Amino acid sequence: MNNKVYFTPGPSELYPTVPQHMQEAMAQKIGSISHRSKQFQEIYASVESSVRELLQLPDEYEVFFVSSATEIWERAIQNNVRRESFHLVNGSFSKRFYETAKELGREAHAHEVPFGQGFDVASISVPETAELVALIQNETSSGACMPVGELNQFREKAPAEALIYVDAVSSLPYPAIDFAKVDAVYFSVQKCFGLPAGLGVWLVNDRCMAKAREMQDEGLSIGSYHTLPSLLDKALVSQTVETPNVLNIYLLGKVVQDMNQKGVDAIRKETEAKAEQIYTFLEGSSIFSPAVANPQHRSRTTIVANTTIPASEVNKLLAPFDMQVGSGYGKYKESQIRIANFPAHSPEQVESLIEKLKSISA
Ligand SMILES: *Cc1c(COP(=O)(O)O)cnc(C)c1O
Repeated sequence: MNNKVYFTPGPSELYPTVPQHMQEAMAQKIGSISHRSKQFQEIYASVESSVRELLQLPDEYEVFFVSSATEIWERAIQNNVRRESFHLVNGSFSKRFYETAKELGREAHAHEVPFGQGFDVASISVPETAELVALIQNETSSGACMPVGELNQFREKAPAEALIYVDAVSSLPYPAIDFAKVDAVYFSVQKCFGLPAGLGVWLVNDRCMAKAREMQDEGLSIGSYHTLPSLLDKALVSQTVETPNVLNIYLLGKVVQDMNQKGVDAIRKETEAKAEQIYTFLEGSSIFSPAVANPQHRSRTTIVANTTIPASEVNKLLAPFDMQVGSGYGKYKESQIRIANFPAHSPEQVESLIEKLKSISA
């Protein structure tokens, strides 16, 4: 039996209702049903409508299920960029999207700031030729975030035709995205949705769809099975192109229903309250300190702290209490810890973590 509470930034602690939904899925033999059956179509349609409700998604957006956010980076470039993309980079995930564009032979440009910093949006100019603007709402590697008010400024900054993409992989449903100000938003279920990994959700508007069709009509390659038009063809009949992760789609629907019942406002308020407690602790600690200097750019969902005790040692000290935090990312593996503050983490669990971190620094 593993009683550990995972504060790792994804995979992480599962949403508390997942075990019961998993049991029900087994009882219903969800793992055995055909993805072309009416039963699957009903599951799909219900998940889609729950996601629309939670995020208050406008009608001009489609909801597509793919394998991961990493896949979405590749599909975004294939379907929406003829020649040129522009990326805001401040850590490993935003950099990976930029590199994907280059690997696919596009002319990718980056506006890069040091690890652990947010962006000074006023000083950024988007090239006139950029077809896709890649924004990072929450950079999980460094704990820097971009408030919605900053995301919203890019519609005016970017050329009229440019498509604005938002990586909200480790923050949704926390940020109240203004979907009219952007064109595509994406997330993976193993972060804030508290599910096992293996499902990416890609929200795209009609402008992204139109661009993909234009490129296809020009005879350009927009990829193979997961082109936007083929994803839409199947989504219109509540199906996927390939045999999908039916179990995880089912579980996502159940968790999002639970979240809707709790209410997205309550989830957002609770996230903020827990984040504030964690940052207050970090600021007063003799061992830990917030890694992101500007409080405005401190993530509420993936909190990164500098540590004078190696991260592996912090986890050794937490182990007897059945708790684990994330180590730092890449070269910060030992000098930083990352604390996931997801909807799955209850206020009591967060309080208890803070208490233990206090005791190890005493
Ligand atoms: C985890 C993460 C990704 C990649 O998600 P996968 O599901 O592993 O493909 C992309 N962007 C950010 C910000 C992430 O935290």
